[in-house]
Amino acid sequence: LSGRLDGALGRLRRKSRLTQRDVDEALAEIRVALLEADVAVRVVDTILARVEEAAVGAMASASLTPGQQVVKAVHDELLRVLGGEPFRLRYASTPPTVILLAGLQGVGKTTAAAKLALAQLREGRSPLLVAADLQRPGAIEQLRILGERAGVAVVSDGDDPVTVARHGVAEARRLGRDVVIVDTAGRLAIDEALMREVQMVSEAIDPHYRFLVVDAMVGQESVRVAQAFDERLSISAVILTKLDGDARGGAALSVREVVGKPIAFASVGEKLEDFEPFYPDRMASRILGMGDVLSLIERAESTMDHEVAQRGVDRLRQGRFDLNDLLEQMRQVRRLGPLKGVLAMLPGVPKELRNQDIDDAELTRIEAMISSMTREERSNPTMIDASRRARIARGSGTQPAQVAALLKQFRDVHKVLRQAGVGAPSATKRRKPP
Ligand code: GDP
Ligand code: MG
Repeated sequence: LSGRLDGALGRLRRKSRLTQRDVDEALAEIRVALLEADVAVRVVDTILARVEEAAVGAMASASLTPGQQVVKAVHDELLRVLGGEPFRLRYASTPPTVILLAGLQGVGKTTAAAKLALAQLREGRSPLLVAADLQRPGAIEQLRILGERAGVAVVSDGDDPVTVARHGVAEARRLGRDVVIVDTAGRLAIDEALMREVQMVSEAIDPHYRFLVVDAMVGQESVRVAQAFDERLSISAVILTKLDGDARGGAALSVREVVGKPIAFASVGEKLEDFEPFYPDRMASRILGMGDVLSLIERAESTMDHEVAQRGVDRLRQGRFDLNDLLEQMRQVRRLGPLKGVLAMLPGVPKELRNQDIDDAELTRIEAMISSMTREERSNPTMIDASRRARIARGSGTQPAQVAALLKQFRDVHKVLRQAGVGAPSATKRRKPP
């Protein structure tokens, strides 16, 4: 997914003007990418319709970076679907706050119950776990073991799930526990028996929260599951599990959009600590291919006017990149973003240079120094002797040593470029570097 979107958005990003064809092509690729990430078709359609609107707006506006607007539109739209605000658990004014976990078998309900209990404990609450899965052999024992590891007591008294759940809540009240988490049975598929059971448990204890546990690896099927559970239980929110796997989590988008319920927590591993609030912005980035798009958006800010960038590249290739060119590139960069990003965008620039961090204040200083040079000095820095250095320093409010440092840096850049075979010596080369 990330590769695909990177391609589609990357091409757009570099465009200074978008045509309808650019937009159509990019939308087609974004569509495939989202489908591959298990986002349901109708959700994809909604997202694309909005992105297209933004893209058309970007075409119409004389914006400098319409590509950037499209990239942002995709990200913003995912965020909108996922819900902007992280979920917050509200505790009942009369404890205990009762939480029911439901979902298919193997999705991670029992694990999530223990993880949630541990998280509550760490927040200073006094949780109690109730094992109301009487279907799966060993389910009670499993929760007992996990509960022990979390340091939370587990109760399971009764011969049927409704009794166990009722008793568990009563026990929490009696013991003065303020949160009670009820684990229930699952089935391999949605069936009437499962639904009836969990519905009866829910009606018996009237929980404050009915969390549906959804396995991120399951994909599109989770939309149907979520709808079915929502019809019977009116779920409050979703706990998304196994986000430590390969799943991009497109299912999260689908569930959120189709069922309209927030995602409360994310389960991100097998350890009890691997549990966290669900952050919509992180998920949006993950679906888009973590890092890739965030950095695309960040780097989009350093999108250069294509012609200026190309001129820089050509001059580099020809070994003719001088301080005039550097100044031109820097001005462009300053208008749009950090030098690092621009360097990274120039083809053929070795990675030693790409990784060089140059801070803003330093850029200002460098720009001032180059601006204080004559055009001739810029294209032939070897002519800059001590007295010229002093003049340039005065003109730019810097020290002669700083001017000397810049010139040395520039020579080093040339050296690295030459070693990398960029701007190798050729007949067109006008001067020998000092
Ligand atoms: P339940 O049938 O819904 O109660 O599911 P379980 O809690 O028994 O979990 C089923 C399997 O998934 C177990 O092997 C768990 O260790 C594993 N599991 C649960 N949550 C996660 C998770 O977030 N990440 C990973 N990698 N495994 C998980
Ligand atoms: Mg279980």
